[in-house]
Amino acid sequence: MRILIQPIGDLEEDLIFSLERGLADRFNAQISILAPTTLDMSCFNPMRYQFNSTCLLRKLKPVWITLGVTDRDIYADRMNFVFGEAELNGNRAIVSIYRLRSMDSRVTEERLIKEAVHEIGHVLGLKHCRNRSCVMSFSNSLAEVDIKGSYFCASCASKIRAYLKE
Ligand SMILES: [Zn+2]
Ligand SMILES: [Zn+2]
Repeated sequence: MRILIQPIGDLEEDLIFSLERGLADRFNAQISILAPTTLDMSCFNPMRYQFNSTCLLRKLKPVWITLGVTDRDIYADRMNFVFGEAELNGNRAIVSIYRLRSMDSRVTEERLIKEAVHEIGHVLGLKHCRNRSCVMSFSNSLAEVDIKGSYFCASCASKIRAYLKE
């Protein structure tokens, strides 16, 4: 398996490198960081001052697992905002760092890893998990992000065992 990290816009290199390490630590995958792309303004909603996550997702090339990372605020239909979005059993996922930031850069890095692992879990076919400590539990607030773990529970892990580090 290959995971391509696609920075969208200006993102701190340290954050992207820590994400790469976090993914390498969990997935049995070859991970590459692509050259940053610019934000596609056709995905910007001036009424909301946010980018549509589905629109940004569809701008990504559907190869291997491609994870877009943006520093801009993103939303999906019927949601005020989202931390990320993914194609279930597809190729593409996107995460936003915008609402994950903390004064403590390690906390920011940990949150980004959790949300990225979560969205990649969806790409691999996992749905939301009721286990609140599992990375696949749904989170729509920072408190929920901080409470959950950054790893898959035994049940989720058993479904995607081939893609995980032993
Ligand atoms: Zn989810
Ligand atoms: Zn789980």
